[in-house]
Amino acid sequence: MKTVYADYAASAPISERALAVFEETARMPGNPSSLHEAGQAAADRIEKARAQVAALIGADPEEIFFTSGGTESDNWAVFSGFRLACEIRGGPPVLAVSAIEHDAVLKSAAEAAGRIGNGEGKLVLLPVSEGGVVPVPREEEIPRASFFSVMTANNETGVVQPVGEWARVSHVRGALFHTDAVQAAGQIPVNAKETEADLMSLSAHKLHGPVGVGALFVRREIAGEFPNRTFGGGQEGGKRPGTVPAALIAAFGEAAEESAEKMEEDARRISALRDFVEAELLSLPGTVRSGEGERLPGIANLSFRGVGGEAASLLCGLAGVMLSAGSACHAGNEEPSRVLLSMTGDRDRASSALRISLGRETTEEDARAVIRAVKDAIERIRNG
Ligand code: PLP
Repeated sequence: MKTVYADYAASAPISERALAVFEETARMPGNPSSLHEAGQAAADRIEKARAQVAALIGADPEEIFFTSGGTESDNWAVFSGFRLACEIRGGPPVLAVSAIEHDAVLKSAAEAAGRIGNGEGKLVLLPVSEGGVVPVPREEEIPRASFFSVMTANNETGVVQPVGEWARVSHVRGALFHTDAVQAAGQIPVNAKETEADLMSLSAHKLHGPVGVGALFVRREIAGEFPNRTFGGGQEGGKRPGTVPAALIAAFGEAAEESAEKMEEDARRISALRDFVEAELLSLPGTVRSGEGERLPGIANLSFRGVGGEAASLLCGLAGVMLSAGSACHAGNEEPSRVLLSMTGDRDRASSALRISLGRETTEEDARAVIRAVKDAIERIRNG
C-alpha cells in the first residue's frame, strides 16, 4: 500500500530540480574560498543561489547570509539582534516575542534575556488571539522592548501574521524587528523590503530544498553593525565563517526559484485539497479547526474532542498516512501543543490536535486517503 506523506510543514521532500543541482554541485571539487578555477566555479554557484534566495523575498543578494538552517538563523537573529539593539545601541533590556514562536526563537529569547547582567533582562510574550493571530497593539500599549520577533506564518496553524504592522510598531519603539519566515517563504508572497523587516529567517527544507541549509536576511542598513555569532575565516563576508556548503546552497537557490515560479499554481491547488480535507473531517462530531483568517495553503490543524492525549498515539495507528500531532517538533511528546494552549487555553483541544500538511505532490487520491485514515482512527479510539 502506498504511504501518503501529509507532513510537508515538518519537511517538504527535495524537488527533482533541486536534487539535480545538488548532485551536480556536489561533484565539483572546489572549496568556494579557493581562488583556483574549481573554487571559483563553486563560488559562482553560491552567488547564483544568493540571488535566487534574495529574489524569493524581495531582498538584495548582499542581504542574504547562508546558515545551517532555520534554527541557526533564528538563534543568530535573536542573540545578535538583541545585542545590537540593547548592548550596542543602548535600548531597553527587553525582548518581545509572540507566544506562538517556534522554540528556536522562544528559547533563544529566554536565554538572551537571562544573560543580561543584574537580572534586569526581560522577555515579554506577545499574546495571541483565539484565532491564532498576534494582534497589533495600540501605540500606547506597545511594549518598551528593543527587539521584537513575530513569525510570518505559524507552523502549527498556518495563520499568517500582520508582520508589516509589527515591523512598524517595533520601529515606533526604535527597536529591531525579526520575523521567522521559515514556513511562509515559498508558500505565499514574502517581501522583506515591503515588510520593513530588519531580520528574516529562512530554511531550505520547508520549500523543497535540502535539509541543513538556511539563510538569514539582514537589512542592508544594519548589516555593518550586526554582530557575529561564530568566529573564524572570512566566509559570508566574515559574518558567518566556515567552509560554505556549495551543493546545499546551490540546491536551496534552485528550490527557492522553483517555489517562486510555482507558488500561485501550487497555492491554488493545495489550498483546495486542504479545504476538502478540512470540510470532510469537520463533519465528524466534536471536530474543531484551529486557525482563522489568512492561512498558509497546506496546513490544517484539527482537534478531535475527547480523543485527548491519544492524539499522538493516534498517529501511529494511522494506516498509510504520515502526519504530526501539534507540530513535528513535538511528535512523540505527549504534552499538549503550546501554540494551541496559548490561543485557547483549552487543554482538550490542544492535546487532541493533528496537523495535516499537504504540499506540491499531494494528489486528490492522497487527500481522500488522509480523510479515510483519520476518520477510521478517530472512530476506533472513540469506540474504545
Ligand atoms: N521556525 C519555524 C517556524 C519552523 O517551523 C522550523 C522547523 O520546523 C524552524 C524554525 C527550524 O528550522 P530548521 O528545521 O531548518 O532548523
